[in-house]
Amino acid sequence: MNPSVRSLDLLRSSGLRITPQRLAVFESIAGLDHPAVDEIYDHLRHSHPGMSVATVYNTVERLVQEGLVRVIMVEGKRRYDLRLDHHDHLLCQVCHRLEDCPDDCPSAGMTVPQEFLVKGQTWQINQHTVILEGVCPQCMNSQP
Ligand SMILES: [Zn+2]
Ligand SMILES: [Zn+2]
Repeated sequence: MNPSVRSLDLLRSSGLRITPQRLAVFESIAGLDHPAVDEIYDHLRHSHPGMSVATVYNTVERLVQEGLVRVIMVEGKRRYDLRLDHHDHLLCQVCHRLEDCPDDCPSAGMTVPQEFLVKGQTWQINQHTVILEGVCPQCMNSQP
């Protein structure tokens, strides 16, 4: 399905009021691949000249609070993802592109218990995040 159609449905079903800003930010995240806030801002700068970086940031964080967008911390930056189901990521260390791992990725399907012992003490585990870091095919090809 067209990601922007899906995003609009999701946004509608959230009960959050659909403002032009929210819609624009949401569609940018759908169209860009795991963008950081400055990439969303760059994307919207021409079509929405009145939107500041702060507005974009506040808007996207509101979507995160509503559970419509998820945050992945990568290299100290917040990157945004519309996919909410558990999935692993691939990060290119050269161009910083972040992509979803395919289902047959080596780390996919790793099961993590909800509780486990660390030095004899129980940790409760709520989620796990796997980021495989390396060099993407494009950067690999452009290397001397
Ligand atoms: Zn790359
Ligand atoms: Zn993702």
